[in-house]
Amino acid sequence: MTVLVGERASGSKQGSAIAALATRVRDVHALNSTASVLGWDQETMMPEGGVEHRASQLALLAKIAHQTFTASEMKDLVSAAVAETASLPEDHADRVDAREIQRDWQKATLLPESLVTELAELSSKAMHAWAAARKASDFARFRPMLERTVELNRKKAECLGWPKGGEPWDALADHYEPGLTAASVADVFTPLRQRLQRLLDRLKGASRKPSNAFNEHALAIADQERFVRFVAKRIGFDFTRGRLDRSTHPFCGGSHCNDVRMTTRYLETCVLDALGSTMHEVGHGMYEQGLDGTRIGLPMGEAAGLSVHESQSRLWENQVGRSRGFWSWCRGELPAFFGDACDCFSLDQLYEAANVVEPGFIRVEADEGTYNMHVMIRFELERALIKGDLAVKDLPGVWNGMYRDYLGVVVPDDRHGCLQDVHWSMGAIGYFPTYTLGTLLAAQLFEKARKDLAGLDEGIAKGEFAPLLAWLRKNVHAEGRRHRLDGLCRKVTGQPLSADPLMRHLEGKLLPIYGLA
Ligand code: ZN
Repeated sequence: MTVLVGERASGSKQGSAIAALATRVRDVHALNSTASVLGWDQETMMPEGGVEHRASQLALLAKIAHQTFTASEMKDLVSAAVAETASLPEDHADRVDAREIQRDWQKATLLPESLVTELAELSSKAMHAWAAARKASDFARFRPMLERTVELNRKKAECLGWPKGGEPWDALADHYEPGLTAASVADVFTPLRQRLQRLLDRLKGASRKPSNAFNEHALAIADQERFVRFVAKRIGFDFTRGRLDRSTHPFCGGSHCNDVRMTTRYLETCVLDALGSTMHEVGHGMYEQGLDGTRIGLPMGEAAGLSVHESQSRLWENQVGRSRGFWSWCRGELPAFFGDACDCFSLDQLYEAANVVEPGFIRVEADEGTYNMHVMIRFELERALIKGDLAVKDLPGVWNGMYRDYLGVVVPDDRHGCLQDVHWSMGAIGYFPTYTLGTLLAAQLFEKARKDLAGLDEGIAKGEFAPLLAWLRKNVHAEGRRHRLDGLCRKVTGQPLSADPLMRHLEGKLLPIYGLA
């Protein structure tokens, strides 16, 4: 069941400055969301032959959207809307819309049209080159595209500028998480890495190891697909307003809250891979579906930022999908999809398989204990690439060295190394830290939901997910872009964003599984 809540339509009167501005911004959103559907099509349906022309289509849409958003009359429209809403309370939806549109507009005006167009065209082509290079496990095939991507992103950072004392990476990260800086990320990541390392060392030394058998149990992909679609619907994804398809790299896109496009992937040997990927993307998808449908295209109808987005996916994937309660419910559902093929697994074995901690190469397959180490490596590398401290040609070697240092694993080839993620090919630099910040927020939100919702865990064990989704709808989804990451965290939990809830979550779960508590 999906419950749409949120402030009703804006109250902005026809003929008002904010209404006139909203009309223009909705045009820009219509163009951008068209590009988003074409992007989804490129990853899921488009034949190989479509690559060149798709890049031109996306470049043209980016150009027209940029022209529309930065047209000369916009300056007056933005100023008038900001002035008109200035006497409203700070958190009033119209005032938030005016504030956020002004922010987006100011940034857009700093970017030349030629750069916007070239970046859109390059990312479409680079994603294709990345996929081919990844398949062949050959970094050299992707290298020229990545060099150009880094070069154009440096230019973009210079156009946007960054706060005094900061660095170019900050300008790029601000697009994904307003106000995020490399220094503030390092302040969070450095102590977190030490705490995670201590936990991983303890788990490594444990004499008890969790059962891994369910991770190596082959199940037919057609059955897996029916099963993950069932779970997606049961936890709250509305299939009348969204789709689930397949792609190499699972993602959630689409055009607006009533047309959400998610993808997942399947491995015959491990249903947990498809289940984890699906629950993750469903978390993103339900956030999108929970945004205010009366404000499509306006900031109050958009997600707060990528960290908050990631908190929603990580919460459903981990706090719910890797909990004992979830498996207690899920075990009873398995025969409907897999017959007696899973009967040999006890609840303990299923729960433990979902929580095995084992350092590996691939971020999207990583367990909860090691996941953030993968993110930290990417943050340091992209920061160095943008600063000019690391040349693209040296990336594979440095990448592999960091995997040895952070996770103690020897990367066998580029496919399992620096070619595994789609992000840099999309030009998404400054994005990765939002995964870890979102992971911290997920743990903090779930602790608060447990306090607010009596019997939350018992309900999950019975397959009742609606109370949690309704809580997230009210506290997070309906807020649109009203708050920044830390502001939202304080408002909902009463505390600033902290690593303590995540460490409590990990230690509270993993130490008993490993016989250490
Ligand atoms: Zn995600």
